[in-house]
Amino acid sequence: MNNIIPYGRQWIDEDDISAVCEVLRSPFITTGPMLDRFEKAVCEYTGARYGAAVSSGTAALHAAMAAVGIGPGDEVIVPPMTFAATANAVVYMGGRPVFADVLSENLLIDPDKIRECITDKTKAITVVDYAGHPCDYESLQAIAHEYGLKLIADSCHALGASYKDRKLGTWADITLFSFHPVKPITTGEGGMAVTNHAELAEKMKAFRNHGITVDYKQREQIGSWYYEIVDVGYNYRMTDFQCALGKSQMGKLDEWIARRNAVARMYDEAFDEINEVTSLSCAKDIVHGYHLYVIKTMGVDRTELFRRLWEDGIKVNVHYIPVHLHPFYLNHFGYGKGMCPVAENAYEQILSLPVFPRIEDAEVRTVIDSVIRHIKKVRG
Ligand SMILES: *Cc1c(COP(=O)(O)O)cnc(C)c1O
Repeated sequence: MNNIIPYGRQWIDEDDISAVCEVLRSPFITTGPMLDRFEKAVCEYTGARYGAAVSSGTAALHAAMAAVGIGPGDEVIVPPMTFAATANAVVYMGGRPVFADVLSENLLIDPDKIRECITDKTKAITVVDYAGHPCDYESLQAIAHEYGLKLIADSCHALGASYKDRKLGTWADITLFSFHPVKPITTGEGGMAVTNHAELAEKMKAFRNHGITVDYKQREQIGSWYYEIVDVGYNYRMTDFQCALGKSQMGKLDEWIARRNAVARMYDEAFDEINEVTSLSCAKDIVHGYHLYVIKTMGVDRTELFRRLWEDGIKVNVHYIPVHLHPFYLNHFGYGKGMCPVAENAYEQILSLPVFPRIEDAEVRTVIDSVIRHIKKVRG
């Protein structure tokens, strides 16, 4: 049996480890100087004015929902083809996630379906750059503007991707990133919300620290014990050694995105002639982040193909079970099958193939060979 090939994996070098160790030997291991430096690094890279580093991508989503003021009775439009956290963050605030179906060629939220979902109660739209492919932000901005809605980008897949020659980070009111190990860069666990709006940034920074408006530096400056809790918040802080890891990783991001694209080209070419496999489409005016390389299988038993690839040590995955089909959403909101037929059909067909910067060409070829070999055996 060959070595195991996961669908995604981090890349940690000695310089990353040194950066972490340096902080561990310093006086501040949380909320110290590395916090600002990591936030600045992500802001400089994305072009956003403000960044709030938090303990996970989920925490970043929660902070964003709080900052735009989602509350009981409010509706937020979300795609079903995402990790549950995108919708859960709305539920944390007492709001109702409303699922707008996706486009079949790229599984990104369908702007026409968003329009159909808008009601008097709609406050915001959260879109997802699924697999690392940026959404069509100009269309989304037009809808948000027309109806006076906040536009939130769950770009947890897509740090480093661009839309119309501009990096993701400033196309929505707030953009969120995750630093889980399979994501474009990692801090172990971690996330960041970036925005150009000072007021939203301030709210998110307070939210990650119990709603406290005065931070330790301001307190040091005024030599004071005083602080104010203006809104109830959480402890969603990121440690300084994680920030050091994140900052070190940022220096490698462009190279890693290029490598992910090179891997994607190998898959594109290999599957071009295979009738049973369709790769998701890639628009001309974007740079894809390729967090995932997703294929749709046709005329084959996807479950059997999945099983056989795992047997070969190729740990393909399925992203995602449409969120509205999870028991919580069925039971709590009365959602169910038939709400988002495009996502539901896609779910029966999709597989995420291994793609990460450190994957070797030989491993990519192993994946391609296995997929093609097994497809011949599991034709329906
Ligand atoms: C990973 C992910 C999240 C959650 O990020 P965590 O850092 O794991 O909390 C949210 N949305 C999407 C689309 C993700 O892929």
